[in-house]
Amino acid sequence: MTRIAFIGLGNMGGPMAANLVKAGHTVTGFDLSHDMLAAAEKSGVKPANMLTDAIADAEVVITMLQKGAQVLTVWGDITRSPAKDTLVIDCSTIDVDSARQAHAMAKQAGCLSLDAPVSGGTGGATAATLTFMAGGSEESFARAKPLLEAMGKKIVHCGDAGAGQAAKICNNMILGISMIGVCEAFVLGEKLGLSHQALFDVASTSSGQCWSINTYCPVPGPVPTSPANNSYKPGFAAALMLKDLRLAQEAALSSGAATPLGAEAAQLFSLFEKQGNGARDFSAIIEMFRERI
Ligand code: NAD
Repeated sequence: MTRIAFIGLGNMGGPMAANLVKAGHTVTGFDLSHDMLAAAEKSGVKPANMLTDAIADAEVVITMLQKGAQVLTVWGDITRSPAKDTLVIDCSTIDVDSARQAHAMAKQAGCLSLDAPVSGGTGGATAATLTFMAGGSEESFARAKPLLEAMGKKIVHCGDAGAGQAAKICNNMILGISMIGVCEAFVLGEKLGLSHQALFDVASTSSGQCWSINTYCPVPGPVPTSPANNSYKPGFAAALMLKDLRLAQEAALSSGAATPLGAEAAQLFSLFEKQGNGARDFSAIIEMFRERI
């Protein structure tokens, strides 16, 4: 049993903290939102009134926040006077540079640290089936792994500080680009009089196959579980896809990588969001192509 402080009990952090409680750990939680804190208390998380109260006695601190700036502020407080051997894990999706800065702060304070962003969404957070992509030392990873296993089903050590965030944004850049490609192909097929099912039957079993068509087909019918069959309710919201594509662009800029299709995908999802679609599933972008941009 580990004494864990969980900071950020939102849509993802709330159910993740609940799964740590279910696994027998003592979890003290803190969130700026009283509602989120109250909801977490119902699942066995001990509520703290202040961040410092939550982390006072913790062996492991986990953060699940929205942005890099928030993570750096909270990690600044955590690493001000940490107990010896504290392990700090950030599960938020943030920019690689901020993740590396957070690791540096932890190192200076004598803490072990891990960036461990997730994929799998709120469904995966609730069912404890998240995928974790981790960056940090072998020692940090070995200590974190049993805790991550209580919240997820696939845990990958991607490399040193920031490697988890790097893997996450590279993967989601592939996803954003591939979904646009699949949407364009289905709209072209419609114009050519091709049925959705015929295009799916061919492309899902030949060289066009990818997750965006085989598992998450953006038109209703061929894959009954895809959000297209449910009025494009997320799923994975377009606003979150845009956030990840922008993080990929920031990383491309700071590392000097050429990502022209990633840049185009970010532009297209930005336009889609501006049209009021941020809360819809990202695969609904197919409608924008039907309207001809
Ligand atoms: P959320 O907005 O629901 O939760 C974030 C929580 O952090 C909020 O409750 C907020 O009050 C709290 N918070 C902010 N600043 C704080 C501070 N200084 N101290 C304490 N609490 C603070 O967001 P979410 O959907 O849970 O996402 C969290 C992270 O996970 C994001 O980085 C997101 O990109 C990533 N993510 C989300 C999903 C998803 O489907 N929601 C999927 C994969 C990854």
